[in-house]
Amino acid sequence: MAKLNILEFPDPRLTTVATDVENFDADLKTLVEDMTETMYAANGIGLAATQVNIHKRLLVLDVSENQDQPRVYINPQIMSQSGEQSCEEGCLSVPGIYASVERAENITVTACDVDGKTFEEELEGLHAVCVQHEMDHLIGRLFVDYLSPLKRNIVRKKLQKQRKIAAKEAAEHLVI
Ligand code: ZN
Repeated sequence: MAKLNILEFPDPRLTTVATDVENFDADLKTLVEDMTETMYAANGIGLAATQVNIHKRLLVLDVSENQDQPRVYINPQIMSQSGEQSCEEGCLSVPGIYASVERAENITVTACDVDGKTFEEELEGLHAVCVQHEMDHLIGRLFVDYLSPLKRNIVRKKLQKQRKIAAKEAAEHLVI
């Protein structure tokens, strides 16, 4: 397994619209394993292929308490949705930024597993939020896109500042 590089906002590649997975082969299995490892290493609960610069419709997540129930959704589709919930969201591609986003409370999703077998699930709560957040990545949308342009600009500036500080610290220290 290998850890993958996660793209960060405002990288334009994050706005790419992904296409369906067509080959359920060994390469796909490796990608799912690598994405799962990358998600755990970054302490995330979800990761879309778009975030690792692979523009195919798949996402991994683990919303279990012990982070021991990894799941994969390939070519996911929301068949129905109802209710509303709003949750303070963060994103591995927008590090250190959290904002409240309104999403459906319940969703019915169909997807394929890694062998290409279709399944359907009814999800609610955090699991439903996570699938909706990751599916947004697959159409090139980030949670900060739900914010007002003014707030989004503040996020952009904050991230620039964080990167500058990190670069300065790296230059001042011996990083081995
Ligand atoms: Zn995200």
